[in-house]
Amino acid sequence: MNTPLIAAIEAGGTKFNCALGTPDGELEITERIATTTPEQTLREVVAFFEYAEKQHGTISAFGVGSFGPLDLHVKSKTYRFITTTPKPGWQNTDLLGPLRKHFDVPFGFDTDVNSAALGEHTWGAGRNCDPLIYITIGTGIGGGVLIDGKPLHGALHPEIGHLYIPQVISNAPQPDGICPFHGSCIEGLISGPAITNRWGAPAESFPPEHECWGEFATLLALGLVNLTLTLSPQRIILGGGVMHQAHLFPMIREEVQRLLNGYVYLHELADGIGQFIVPPGLGDRAGILGALALGIEALNEVRQN
Ligand code: ADP
Ligand code: ZN
Repeated sequence: MNTPLIAAIEAGGTKFNCALGTPDGELEITERIATTTPEQTLREVVAFFEYAEKQHGTISAFGVGSFGPLDLHVKSKTYRFITTTPKPGWQNTDLLGPLRKHFDVPFGFDTDVNSAALGEHTWGAGRNCDPLIYITIGTGIGGGVLIDGKPLHGALHPEIGHLYIPQVISNAPQPDGICPFHGSCIEGLISGPAITNRWGAPAESFPPEHECWGEFATLLALGLVNLTLTLSPQRIILGGGVMHQAHLFPMIREEVQRLLNGYVYLHELADGIGQFIVPPGLGDRAGILGALALGIEALNEVRQN
């Protein structure tokens, strides 16, 4: 049997990253499509995959990791829709509908961050880690959780970016958080735009010694400690644009240890902390490779049944 071709889509608020890949994690062809209106964006996505199919061969499955919130309840009428997103024009969007009209194959679908967690679990820094948490800190903050290697959904799906954390005294010119829903939730305080807004300049412009990073490490560590105590993860992967600041990793690890204050002895939280809080092994490709992994799982499920 020929190696199957899987279509992967990382659906983001700025762009849709599209690719064709194989079950060993190789990407054959990739394309970026701007996120405009659902009609236009999805038309271009369909056109790309029709072209890709002509060039490379029949697509066997799709994997889609998307911004949300998403409806992931199998029995819901709006199953697999984007629901209450703040992104204008994208509320209640049937993302898969137009694709399914053109491609009659199995579809895997999950949040962008559950998908990135799956990519890291399959090929990256999260191999053999259970539970695994993947958090991205960029334009927003999002987190995915895998338990037994499967994305956690539950009543909704994890929305780690909107955790409330304790207030700390801040020297920021604008100390309050900017989340339109919660003000000072973690996204409201330390996403890229939150840093820019609260500290008065783009996050990438601050040198490593700037006090904004000490505050960042404390606030993020508060969130990570709460997650660690709740979910007992074996590893936490931190990705996204802001985490390109590599000096943050040792600061965050130290803060997590300081806040835990020796409660529970665990190798992962002591000498092993360098392997507990880590950057993505797949770099900025975690999302698209995660979508590929979702597609592979969808194909395997159909083949097993
Ligand atoms: P998105 O979240 O839109 O997918 P990114 O993960 O690249 O995209 O996040 C973009 C945000 O990350 C912006 O707010 C930007 O200011 C911030 N950012 C990007 N690169 C850096 C960097 N090297 N240092 C600090 N912040 C950065
Ligand atoms: Zn919020």
